[in-house]
Amino acid sequence: MNKINTIRHPAFTDDIPVVAESDVVVVGGGSAGISAAVSAARNGSSVTVLERYHHLGGMASGGMVLVLDDMVNGQEIVVSGIVDEFVQRMKKEGMAVVPPEEDRFASEEMWRKWSRWGVHDFHQAQRPQPIVYAVAFDPDAWKRTSLNLVRENDINLRLHSWFSEAIVEDGLIKGVICQTKTGREAILGNIVIDTSGDLDVACSAGADYDQGQYIVTTVFRLSNVDTDEALRFEYEEPEAFAKINREARRIIGGAWEMWWLKTPIPGVVWCNCPHMPGYDGISVGDLTSAEYEGRDRMMGLFEFVRKNLPGFEKSNMLGGAEQVGVRTTRMLKGEYVVTKEDVVNRRYFSDSVCRGRDYYTPYRALLPKKVEQLIVAGRHYSAEPDAQKRSREIPPCMAQGEAAGIAASLALQEDILIRDVDASKIQKQMRAQGADPGDIPSANATGLDDQVVNA
Ligand SMILES: Cc1cc2nc3c(=O)[nH]c(=O)nc-3n(C[C@H](O)[C@H](O)[C@H](O)COP(=O)(O)OP(=O)(O)OC[C@H]3O[C@@H](n4cnc5c(N)ncnc54)[C@H](O)[C@@H]3O)c2cc1C
Repeated sequence: MNKINTIRHPAFTDDIPVVAESDVVVVGGGSAGISAAVSAARNGSSVTVLERYHHLGGMASGGMVLVLDDMVNGQEIVVSGIVDEFVQRMKKEGMAVVPPEEDRFASEEMWRKWSRWGVHDFHQAQRPQPIVYAVAFDPDAWKRTSLNLVRENDINLRLHSWFSEAIVEDGLIKGVICQTKTGREAILGNIVIDTSGDLDVACSAGADYDQGQYIVTTVFRLSNVDTDEALRFEYEEPEAFAKINREARRIIGGAWEMWWLKTPIPGVVWCNCPHMPGYDGISVGDLTSAEYEGRDRMMGLFEFVRKNLPGFEKSNMLGGAEQVGVRTTRMLKGEYVVTKEDVVNRRYFSDSVCRGRDYYTPYRALLPKKVEQLIVAGRHYSAEPDAQKRSREIPPCMAQGEAAGIAASLALQEDILIRDVDASKIQKQMRAQGADPGDIPSANATGLDDQVVNA
């Protein structure tokens, strides 16, 4: 009989079986995590991905966040690479909708045609806002695409595995422990990428962090909506529409102007609401309360629009997202903390390894200060909450993951610490993979810095 390897961890008294060992361990199978895993695997590393749920995608599937945005600077596409593979694959299935190039400009006609797909540049003050390259997609297609990419790249996937403790020796991370139905399991690796969104690994490993908090949202979908009739009513009877829409938004109690958006499935709309303040996205009590409140509020809106909003009379409640939509919890305080001014002023960094919209992310913002061989990617990256609020959309999170995967493989190939990887090599490989590392600043970038470190 084969002897099972076990390890001891100071937090527990029992031996813990080692169920996997790989070059790179990715904790969290959301958009940043899958991007990191695929990127590391393609650069020659063996990779294990741990995910607590039964599906991959995080907010992009379980959270039912269904528009990819923040990919353009004006009309120039600046986020590509692995996110583009997702788009192409989902498009082939008819499960991603992108406005064609000839429709990407500002006009009343394009606004009416496209704004209910959520593909307008909502950062622009001008009205109507321009239609841009952005993508409305289906959550199940996202899950399938994630699984297929994992399988094709020989990544060792372990679903239903809830990370619980980092294994750290002398400041060096050696792997992680997770909780499963059959007990605790250890996964060892030379480099760990924390893509849990809530900084679970870095926090457990002793890295510094800040506590952010913002609204949480239980997104939901309605089916059998006559979207043509809804749009006719909106534009042909604007006063009546405004009155009903105001009341709908009052009932849901927290919604953007465009609270319903079309999806690739005809008649199915997603409602990015209700937004609920005051909940801590890592507190069990708060997350439980948010389920009650979110579902009560979505039913209130549903009953109202069924009775009152033309186009919604025969709609059905298709259901709420599997996960409460959490935007911000713990945030790394890493080698560099991106500030709101950096994002707003489009500050360029010489060690920029990825970007979103018109902002740049320095490599240092993915690295914790104390723990070695750990890197992070995704919404918990090292930024002030006010900076993260403007820079945490799905595509930039994926670009961070792609850069982190490259960095991990470079560190292993060169046998150096991940913090010592030369950012220019990550930039070069990002370009080779079809991604924009932000090494060539756009004309509207400012503050051509150097290695400024804010302690
Ligand atoms: C309601 C809402 C609307 C939004 N609207 C948009 C939008 O329109 N467009 C856009 O681009 N972005 C939008 N965003 C932002 C965007 O969805 C997120 O910032 C982004 O998806 C974060 O990706 P991530 O991979 O960093 O984190 P997540 O998607 O949160 O992924 C983290 C993954 O780690 C897993 N995980 C967590 N803890 C553990 C653990 N302990 N053990 C194992 N696995 C773990 C999770 O299950 C998950 O799969 C929105 C967000 C919300 C909440």
